[in-house]
Amino acid sequence: MNTTKSLKEKVAFVQGGSRGIGAAIVKRLVSEGAAVAFTYRSSPDEAQKLVEQMAAAGSNVIAIRADSADPEALSQAIRQTVEHFGKLDILVNNAGVLPWGPLEDITLAEIDLALAVNIRGVIIASQEAVRHMSDGGRIINIGSINADRIPVAGGAVYAMTKASLVGFTKGLARDLGPRGITVNNVQPGPVDTDMNPANGEAASQLTQLMALGRYGKDEEVASFVAYLVGPEAGFITGASLSIDGGFSA
Ligand code: NDP
Repeated sequence: MNTTKSLKEKVAFVQGGSRGIGAAIVKRLVSEGAAVAFTYRSSPDEAQKLVEQMAAAGSNVIAIRADSADPEALSQAIRQTVEHFGKLDILVNNAGVLPWGPLEDITLAEIDLALAVNIRGVIIASQEAVRHMSDGGRIINIGSINADRIPVAGGAVYAMTKASLVGFTKGLARDLGPRGITVNNVQPGPVDTDMNPANGEAASQLTQLMALGRYGKDEEVASFVAYLVGPEAGFITGASLSIDGGFSA
C-alpha cells in the first residue's frame, strides 16, 4: 500500500479557517501531511476546538486571531506562521463575507467590509506570502461561481468582489510563474455552511438551478483544493475552476 502523503513537510496558511469551507481545508491539508496555520476573527471557540481536534490526531496546527480586513494583522499572521514553522509553501485565501440584498439597502459599512475582506485581504495576504514562499509554492483563492453566474437578485456586490479574483489570479500567475508558484481560483457553487445553509431561505431555489440537485459539502471543496496544492497539479495556473454541482451547466 502506498501511504505517502502528498503534502508531507509542506507548510500552509489558510486565511479564515475556523468554520465552513476553510475548516474543511485545514483538516484536509493536515490529513495530507501539511503543517497548517489558520486565521479567524469572530469564532475563537471553533478555532480552539479545531486546533485541539487536530492536535489529538498528532497534527501540527496553530490558530491566529487576525482580521482579514486589517492589513497589518493579516501580514503579521503570515510572518508569525513563517517564524513558527520556518517556511511557507501554500497560501489559501478563503476568508469571505456575503453582503446580500437590494443594492439600495446595502450599507457603506457592508460594502467596505466586502471590499476589505474579499478583495484587499486576498491582495495583502498574497503580497506578504510571496515574500516568504518557497519556489514551487501554491496560492489558492476561494472565489465563487457567482463571479460567472448570479441567477438570483441581491448578490451584485458579492459577485463583483468574487469576479475581481479572476483577474487577480491571472495576473499573479504571470508574476509568479518564473518561480514555479501556481495561482488558482476555486469557484464553488452553493456549499452547505453557516454562510449558505442547505436548509436556509435561498436553498430550495438554488438547488433547482443545479444539475446535481443538491448543495456541495465543504469537504468536497477541500478535496479539490488539496489536489490543486499537491504535486500533481503543477501545470495548472491562472485558472478559475468551478466546483458547483452543475450550477453553471
Ligand atoms: P462561513 O461564513 O461559513 O465561514 C467563513 C470563514 O471565514 C470563517 O472561518 C470566518 O472566521 C472567516 N472569516 C470571515 N471574515 C473574516 C475576517 N474578517 N477575518 C478573518 N476570518 C474571517 O463561509 P463559507 O465557509 O461558506 O465560505 C468560505 C469562502 O467560500 C468564502 O470566501 C465564500 O465567499 C466562499 N464561497 C462560499 C460558498 C457557499 O455556498 N458556502 C459558495 C461560493 C464561495 P470567523 O468566524 O472566526 O470570523
